[in-house]
Amino acid sequence: MGYLTEKISDEVGRLAQQRGREYFVRGAVKRIEGNASSVDAVVQGAMKYDVNIYIVDDFLDYSCTCPYFQRDLDPCKHIWAACLAAEREGYLIRAEDVTSRELFEALPEVLIGKANPKTALVKNPTPAPGWKKQLQPLLGALEADESRSRFATVPEREIVYIIDVRDTLTTERLNVEVAQRDRKMNGTWGRLKIKRLGVHEENNLPDPADRKIVAILFGSRHEVFYGYSSYRDSVSPDFVIPPPLWDVVLPLMCATGRCRLRVASTNGDEDPPVQWDDGEPWELRLKVAREGDGEGYLVTGVLRRGEAEMELAKPVLLLAGGLVFYDGRIARLSDHGVFGWISLLRARGSLSIPREEGDAFLTALLRFSR
Ligand SMILES: [Zn+2]
Repeated sequence: MGYLTEKISDEVGRLAQQRGREYFVRGAVKRIEGNASSVDAVVQGAMKYDVNIYIVDDFLDYSCTCPYFQRDLDPCKHIWAACLAAEREGYLIRAEDVTSRELFEALPEVLIGKANPKTALVKNPTPAPGWKKQLQPLLGALEADESRSRFATVPEREIVYIIDVRDTLTTERLNVEVAQRDRKMNGTWGRLKIKRLGVHEENNLPDPADRKIVAILFGSRHEVFYGYSSYRDSVSPDFVIPPPLWDVVLPLMCATGRCRLRVASTNGDEDPPVQWDDGEPWELRLKVAREGDGEGYLVTGVLRRGEAEMELAKPVLLLAGGLVFYDGRIARLSDHGVFGWISLLRARGSLSIPREEGDAFLTALLRFSR
């Protein structure tokens, strides 16, 4: 396997690999452009599809415009075919990473046949003086940095924080996904992708705000290094933000302008950004009124903040503890431990109490008040 296909072979299904190789061999890769850090290819399938492949810190990132990839973001045969073509062209290799021997080993098998690369071009290094040996790792890193900035045109990358309404409702915990998208060569943004994050991902982020947020998200997670992982040095991009951190992380995330609320099940591309509302917390007010015919009581609720009132049905999301999401904003909610009332009244709209049970109800109600 070649140096690129090797990197992603765990992620690509056997069938996609097989079909991708067939595509490559029969010349379905119609056009390919690239350099040390990115590749743009056009692959002829049922239609012509655009494939992008990037290398960022040793990870291969890819996308394809075919329906299969767009649906599941699983790497498809077009991506595999484009990888093979990129290997043939020698793209996506950083010059400083490659000695002549490694380059030979890196050549795709289609070029070198079954020759045993181990017999090729073994260099016999001349012994270096002691000080040079000591400094070698440092010098190597320095050269790598320099040549990276010289050669690499790492695509502009943007982090998007997605608060998933459905997951948050189901789990009653604040669920945030860290999605990413790259600027394409034509200047527009690519699709948002939910992909694993390197354990030192924050070091790769150009915006200091993102570095801070991602570091907090990583720090808030206790199970970072547990569980099965196809990459030992990466983590799932789904985070649950514990309540004590809401006040810390949400204002930072919203301030980037890249925090979005996912209401329907989309991949986040269409979701509107949300703002942090730093005002006083909203509070639940219960209203008990006589029902029209005097036959009993009707209990309804509103959210109140100062003079402002909001229908309980209005927020897209309420979270005990608490947060209220409405009108593209996230504000605090002070539920005084009676979040159950909010859920109940949101679900039912109101609560009817027969007149003869009025006293018992009021007594029960008083137990909740403070
Ligand atoms: Zn595809």
